[in-house]
Amino acid sequence: MTRIHGDPDAFVADALRGFARAHEGEVSLVDGGVVRAHPLESGKVAVLIGGGSGHYPAFAGYVGTGMAAGAVCGNVFTSPSTAQALRVAHAADAGGGVLFTYGRYAGDVIHFGEAERRLRDEGIDARTVLITDDVASAAVDDAGERRGIAGIVCVFHIAGAAAERGDPIDEVERLAALANSRTRSHGVAFAGCTLPGADHALFEVPQGHMSIGLGIHGEPGVRDVPLQSAPELAVTLAEPLLRERPAGAHRAAVIVNGLGAVKYEELFVLFGFVLEHLEAQGIEIVEPLCGEFVTSLDMAGVSLTVLWLDEELEELWRAPAFSPALRKGASAVLPGEGRSAADDRAALPTAEAPAEAASTAPPATPASLRAAAVARRLLVSTRDVIATHAERLGELDAIAGDGDHGIGMLRGVTAAVEAAESTDPATGVRELLQRAGDAWSERAGGTSGALWGAAVAQIGASLGSPDAISAADVARSVTAARTRVAELGGAQPGDKTMLDAIVPFDVTLSAQVRAGRGLPSALRAAAEAARAGADATAPMTPRRGRARPLAERSAGHPDPGAVSFSLMVAEIARCADTSREGR
Ligand code: ADP
Ligand code: MG
Repeated sequence: MTRIHGDPDAFVADALRGFARAHEGEVSLVDGGVVRAHPLESGKVAVLIGGGSGHYPAFAGYVGTGMAAGAVCGNVFTSPSTAQALRVAHAADAGGGVLFTYGRYAGDVIHFGEAERRLRDEGIDARTVLITDDVASAAVDDAGERRGIAGIVCVFHIAGAAAERGDPIDEVERLAALANSRTRSHGVAFAGCTLPGADHALFEVPQGHMSIGLGIHGEPGVRDVPLQSAPELAVTLAEPLLRERPAGAHRAAVIVNGLGAVKYEELFVLFGFVLEHLEAQGIEIVEPLCGEFVTSLDMAGVSLTVLWLDEELEELWRAPAFSPALRKGASAVLPGEGRSAADDRAALPTAEAPAEAASTAPPATPASLRAAAVARRLLVSTRDVIATHAERLGELDAIAGDGDHGIGMLRGVTAAVEAAESTDPATGVRELLQRAGDAWSERAGGTSGALWGAAVAQIGASLGSPDAISAADVARSVTAARTRVAELGGAQPGDKTMLDAIVPFDVTLSAQVRAGRGLPSALRAAAEAARAGADATAPMTPRRGRARPLAERSAGHPDPGAVSFSLMVAEIARCADTSREGR
């Protein structure tokens, strides 16, 4: 039960405000998260971490010396947006490149992945290392598909310590990936957590039982077993980690982590038995940790993490850390002493980079301005269509997903319209759609928001600022957007996603344009193909997104994202026809 909150919707912002006051001089709030109060030395790699909130000390608590340069903080159990990640990255970047590292979850991968791509477009060397330590979430053969739990702390410190000593980004990336490949975690839950403002827990564990293989977003474990005594629990937690011990590894960093509601003395009881069990297997323990490191609100549960050390990882694991939630080694001194945080921040060169870049862009061509005007009108019309169908889209999503597709699409397209309408009339189509896409992704939330936001921005980027825009240019920009959605979401046709409508739309549009048809009739045929594609998702089984775990429920119903796509493009085709008649 979350007992202390003001407006539940402001829970994260309120918590971050208090956190920053509690660690004044160590961290500074930025729009979207937290950065170090004293910026990195110029040329060092900025390690950026993040994800949903509700996991403190992850993520804001790990911003500091030998740890992260910044943390991107989303809503409770919700991925932060691309725009948040970009703002934190700009505030933290010191010219040595940016390494995003975070636990592998679909929404985070999409939003951070898009931020990484945008940073690269700006000329910032951005990289990503996904953390996949949870052995219960996929078999060893699919280790890359595993989710991240408390082992993220090991990777954060290894990457942070490498960046601190001045390693170049290639090295920091390599070491973070090495640490991830040698980190394993396993947890059990005794009781589920309750979201702020909710009156019941996200899941329950039967009386006298524990649930093995917990997730950190209120996901229950994979099987319930009777409660065990502490020595038995130590073995239960350690066994799967020992099974994946790399050849020759005999030294390990160990973390016993409380998920939120287990008291420290209980954790110490478990910790003692865990260390004895590992030592009995001949493992030498190096600077182990016991406490709360990655929580899940007030969930009752514990997890065990082992980082199998080699020489280079051990040196980094032993390196000092000074962050609000992890302080180890010799550096229990505030970084940047003698300088004020404000002085340091004022010297930061890159914090304002995006605004500067926009204002120095060359003026838009007449063709680009005409296309921008068309884009504004199309956004308004498609918003009206989504408003009409929002309820039905929500109902479709509720069958096997979380029911938010209608409101998510409406929030996104409305934000895009507002962004487009507030741009100056001299803005060309590239900047207009970039801003509309950013606004969409930031406000919509959900997987589809990230994908739509990226697609809209991609259409703008592909159209660019040319002297004329032909039907073939439009078709090419649609293909680029389709490629972007496929790359970001990783879905294939047949997975029962919006891609099952996008692909026929794109294929038909390109074929029609190549065959010499005018844009209005090509769009009409393509929209028809999108509708057929959306209809054809009804019998499919979802293999991506939130609908996957409840796949069988969605049989007989089309995919909500494919349906909303087909509604949007039908409206675009209708507008193209009408404007031709008007001419
Ligand atoms: P969320 O799933 O985060 O609640 P929405 O409900 O807004 O987001 O959107 C759900 C839709 O997103 C699905 O119907 C599907 O069309 C689309 N979707 C989900 N995951 C993917 C993916 N990996 N690639 C392409 N589309 C996806
Ligand atoms: Mg949904």
